[in-house]
Amino acid sequence: MKTNTSRPAILGGSPACDTLLPIINPYIPDLKKLEPHFRNILDSGMLTNSSYVGKLEERIAELTGARHCVALSSCTSGMILTLHSADLPKGSEVILPSFTFFSTGHAILWNGLKPVFADVRPDTLNVDVSTVEKVMTKDTSALLVPHIFGNPAPATELHEFAKKNGLKLFFDAAHGMGSSYPDKPVGSGGDGESFSLSPTKLLVAAEGGFLTTNDTDTADFVTAGRNYGDTGDADPITYGLNARMSEFHAVLAYEGLALLDSKLERRSQVATSYREMLSEVPGLRFQKIEDGCRTTNKDFSIVLDPVVWEVARDTVYDALLAENIMVKRYFFPPLHRQNCFANYRSEDASDVLGNTNEISNNVISLPIYYNLKDEDVEKVVEAIAKLYQYRHELKEKEA
Ligand SMILES: *Cc1c(COP(=O)(O)O)cnc(C)c1O
Repeated sequence: MKTNTSRPAILGGSPACDTLLPIINPYIPDLKKLEPHFRNILDSGMLTNSSYVGKLEERIAELTGARHCVALSSCTSGMILTLHSADLPKGSEVILPSFTFFSTGHAILWNGLKPVFADVRPDTLNVDVSTVEKVMTKDTSALLVPHIFGNPAPATELHEFAKKNGLKLFFDAAHGMGSSYPDKPVGSGGDGESFSLSPTKLLVAAEGGFLTTNDTDTADFVTAGRNYGDTGDADPITYGLNARMSEFHAVLAYEGLALLDSKLERRSQVATSYREMLSEVPGLRFQKIEDGCRTTNKDFSIVLDPVVWEVARDTVYDALLAENIMVKRYFFPPLHRQNCFANYRSEDASDVLGNTNEISNNVISLPIYYNLKDEDVEKVVEAIAKLYQYRHELKEKEA
């Protein structure tokens, strides 16, 4: 078939991008900046959990305003250990939204606790506290709440709810380094917040994470827990993990902090451009950020209105891939539709999880990162606008 630039690639046109436009692109400090530190580490022979880890912890505590920061091997190990620190009744229920990354739920399972799914709001994509109330039972012991795509969860409402009902409140802040609540940075919320430093996040250590908390007992317990539960006397206070951070990873994160503000700024520009330019395309909605909050824009996800678009989200998704634009479906399937959580599906999930199902079925996450060019943002927008224009032909192709 002859290529035609005016048609979508999936219908025989030429793709919007000549080579694949990635959805993420970690921007990390130059080797020149890292090299002297790596040399120090090698010369000192202290390869893990030493002075660079200490420096990183101190700096993160300053930036987040939390009293303590404990560096860890990942956000997942952070959530596992913080839940472990709370010593919740065996088999008790922890409420989380189903619209999140699966690791949020895994941390609950690793503790022998029962995940119970709440819904999210259709605008903010964050947990809907009224549905938390709906699924709460006498066996509920804690809440584990993500800041979706860096959009801070409704902390004030959650604090009140947790306090009133005697529940622990933890945050999955994997997307949250650089996010702010209306009154303070994300980090000192609830009984602890776990962050990720993996390559898809803004602050990158290759692998890694950390817990921030104002609670000294939690910080002490997790500090022991990351080191097999051992506080130094070879008689562990608990069964732990090896969830330490190496000195090399700490250097990447520490030097990476110097780039964080530029990343936040550029992502905010890209998100604003997407919002402005895509507002011309019918049938799309964007995540609402509450007044006074700051998001990291860890992901930029659009939600398609299936009635307006007439075609399935996956048709649009495939068509964008055909344009050489890497897109993802964050988060699809939602946790309550994953096999790993099959034993924890509530029977009337559609009753409680209507928004989660709707968003998850219609979400598409677009490329966003520090060195994404304006012209590439325009290509993405034009490709989406073109697909809308050709939706009837795409529909025929579906059949
Ligand atoms: C990335 C991510 C995690 C896992 O982080 P790791 O550091 O890889 O363990 C957890 N929750 C959410 C919402 C994430 O996006």
